[in-house]
Amino acid sequence: MFSPKPLKNSYSDYSPWISAEIMELHYAKHYCGYVNNLNNALEKCPEFFKLSVPSILARINEIPQDVREIVRNNGGGVVNHEILWETLSTRVTKIHEGKLLEDIEHSFGTWENFENLFQKTALSLFGSGWVWLVLGNKKELKICATPNQDSPFLNGEFPIFGIDVWEHAYYLQYKNVRANYFKEIWKVIDWEVVEKRYLSSKPT
Ligand code: MN
Repeated sequence: MFSPKPLKNSYSDYSPWISAEIMELHYAKHYCGYVNNLNNALEKCPEFFKLSVPSILARINEIPQDVREIVRNNGGGVVNHEILWETLSTRVTKIHEGKLLEDIEHSFGTWENFENLFQKTALSLFGSGWVWLVLGNKKELKICATPNQDSPFLNGEFPIFGIDVWEHAYYLQYKNVRANYFKEIWKVIDWEVVEKRYLSSKPT
């Protein structure tokens, strides 16, 4: 059985960037719901409980067909939100130096280009999904969008961090203006944690 990973801070600590009301609903209802649904689906194939959720997603084709889609959606929902909780800060952070900054500048030209491309990808994603910085199969850094709760782990890629662009992530506070949500959540991405994830990234 998988258990929800605790948030590092209380719901109200992410305000004003993300309201306490959103954090509570997002964590206690959406995320915990994905954990429950994943556990229920895996009752059909309990041998998978010994794997990590990223490993389950990387081996999704081995999951019995009648629960495969449930595991794909809810397993993705679990791991995507755990990455978000891990990389979300309660204060404004900036990146000044380090390997991640160097490699992003190498891959995207400048940090500003990277940020602009990430934002453009987030604003142009139609419907519900996520936008990611991933380490691809050729160890390249790239920005990609995934629909619904699909995880980059499904393709054997490593998600370094992602922005949730489902309406449940912002609608209560930002209504339909996804651009304002993006601008605010971007300020509280914890770049130190993101860099740690990048440096420890490895195939599942
Ligand atoms: Mn979400």
